[in-house]
Amino acid sequence: MKKNILLAPGPTPIPETVRQALAEPIIHHRTPQYRAIFAGVSERIKKVFLTQNPVYTLTGSGTSAMEAALVNFHSAGDEVLVIESGKFAERFTEIAKAFGLKAHVLAVTWGEAVDPEKVREFLKAHPAVRSVCVQLCETSTAVLHDIKALGAVTAATEALLIVDGISGLGADRLETDAWGVDLVIAGSQKALMLPPGLAFLSVSEKAKKRLAQANLPRFYLDLRFYEKSMKDQDTPFTPAIGLVIGLAKALDLIETEGVLNVFKRCEQLGEYTRAQFKALGLEIFSKAPSATVSAALMPKGIDGEKVTNVMRDEKGVTMAGGQGALKGKIVRVAHMGAIRKPDIDEGLRILAETLREMEVKVG
Ligand SMILES: *Cc1c(COP(=O)(O)O)cnc(C)c1O
Repeated sequence: MKKNILLAPGPTPIPETVRQALAEPIIHHRTPQYRAIFAGVSERIKKVFLTQNPVYTLTGSGTSAMEAALVNFHSAGDEVLVIESGKFAERFTEIAKAFGLKAHVLAVTWGEAVDPEKVREFLKAHPAVRSVCVQLCETSTAVLHDIKALGAVTAATEALLIVDGISGLGADRLETDAWGVDLVIAGSQKALMLPPGLAFLSVSEKAKKRLAQANLPRFYLDLRFYEKSMKDQDTPFTPAIGLVIGLAKALDLIETEGVLNVFKRCEQLGEYTRAQFKALGLEIFSKAPSATVSAALMPKGIDGEKVTNVMRDEKGVTMAGGQGALKGKIVRVAHMGAIRKPDIDEGLRILAETLREMEVKVG
């Protein structure tokens, strides 16, 4: 039988206990049984965010929480600053524009992290900016931004700090409260070890004050509904019941290991992955490596797209290629969630084999 090793930065492999919970018969959600489960995960997930503020669970992929972070805290014509260092950052700009916000773009060379001083200067020159949008891990380039430093910058201003942790939350250390992050966005299918379908958003006190005044159009993602329902351990619309039940199991795993140990493991596995890339003679793409995913440049003349296709279709190993301007130029290997060293070893062995078949000399 063909292998099926998933090393792309989402969706990631799902642990056995989570899969079994997902296979259980469905229960009704307006019941004490479901409410207890939902109340439990809503409380417990705060420990992964390292926050004491509410974390809302939305039914949708991660992007729904990116949209929620913009529409609930801004009004027509508001200025936002998007730190654009990759494909996912561009999405913030697109959403902002779609809702009539004025998006300033601070372009960062792909593969590099933003210089927090540049953000400080920008905010000084543009005091009307209401929010700064950035990724924790910019999954498309495998870059980790310095959120702690950015939090220190925005804390001194009126601007909110919006962090897309869709891939990074649960892998790269993010201290939501201690670092002054106002809105943290997460998704179920990456470090949280679930199928796609849930998005999460934590809301600081500073952000909460904006919720009532914001006038952008919204309905399904209107957090005022979610805030009200949360008081009854409920959601305004039918939740993805099965995924919430699966989340309880995923959180069991994270709590048993200890969230700080999870961060440490992902960091060490990331270091290991990059050392192995180098041993193969490949150059690391990201200048600010992440505990979530790592990227290696493909040798000159080698089409990375072909490499990942051959690996996936003929050898059963799914790695990710490059996106946008990086298409064909890099391969990306995730080391978050349920991915472990044997999976990385096997994936890299197959990568080396595939490159050799393309006449590349690998170490
Ligand atoms: C995967 C990812 C997204 C997109 O999330 P969807 O669940 O596909 O909507 C956004 N931002 C980052 C950083 C991601 O890794």
